[in-house]
Amino acid sequence: MSSVNAFFDDLQSKPKVVDPPQNEDIVDCESLNEANQATVKPNVTVSSNVRELLECPVCLNAMYPPIHQCSNGHTLCSGCKPRVHNRCPTCRNELGDIRCLALEKVAASLELPCKYQSFGCTGIYPYYGKLKHESQCSYRPYSCPYAGSECTIIGDVPHLVAHLKDDHKVDMHNGCTFNHRYVKSNPHEVENATWMLTVFGCFGQYFCLHFEAFQLGISPVYIAFLRFMGDDNEAKNYSYSLEVGGNGRKMIWQGVPRSIRDSHRKVRDSFDGLVIQRNMALFFSGGDRKELKLRVTGRIWKEQ
Ligand SMILES: [Zn+2]
Ligand SMILES: [Zn+2]
Ligand SMILES: [Zn+2]
Ligand SMILES: [Zn+2]
Repeated sequence: MSSVNAFFDDLQSKPKVVDPPQNEDIVDCESLNEANQATVKPNVTVSSNVRELLECPVCLNAMYPPIHQCSNGHTLCSGCKPRVHNRCPTCRNELGDIRCLALEKVAASLELPCKYQSFGCTGIYPYYGKLKHESQCSYRPYSCPYAGSECTIIGDVPHLVAHLKDDHKVDMHNGCTFNHRYVKSNPHEVENATWMLTVFGCFGQYFCLHFEAFQLGISPVYIAFLRFMGDDNEAKNYSYSLEVGGNGRKMIWQGVPRSIRDSHRKVRDSFDGLVIQRNMALFFSGGDRKELKLRVTGRIWKEQ
């Protein structure tokens, strides 16, 4: 318990990711007069006040075209406009259908830092390109890859590896080959779904091996697949194989690990892994078909 709290404390002390309108990291106008002017980008400096103007007074988000205004000049974002019943939320006058082109043009001249600056992104982007960049920024934090619980933890890979180990008590292994046994005494309760996660460290990277039971239509099945703790373009540099068998039969899967940017559910629903029907799984388990005993062996390698 205390480790969980310590973790949250730790998270709190981290710099927060804030949307541009609330961000105070921009130097205010007074600094312009100071001697170190050369290190301050003038267009970034001026932007602080303009950014306040670009904040929607209703939802407080940054406004993007079309930006609306009432006949008195109060502005409003296009998302909030349909929700205010044609009344300006500031002066209560009729809103009408007036666009604030001047503000839209001012916004176009702004350049702002990526909101993942505190995660290491040094990019500066035009106002209208910033959202697109942020949706693909390689510094944007990853979501916790643990399946089976709604975990809201986000962070970079080292942070998540520590979190998986400390808070989810996930098994951690070093090495590129593995030999895993999945044993379940009541394999007929698929709704009692099993999620198992093991983390492998090899090639200086981390990989998540998932094993899940789920219901495919009316058939209970098992799936095992690997996810890469990093982005898709790097995940493609690796391959893996999984093998399961028994009673003289064997199934082999070879695949490419999926980035943890893709949710485990998305990977599972696309069957991008070793899928084993329960009948087959019980056959591989031997014995009286009352117990699931699967031995999954696998290997991860780097493509040349
Ligand atoms: Zn709004
Ligand atoms: Zn108004
Ligand atoms: Zn960025
Ligand atoms: Zn988690």
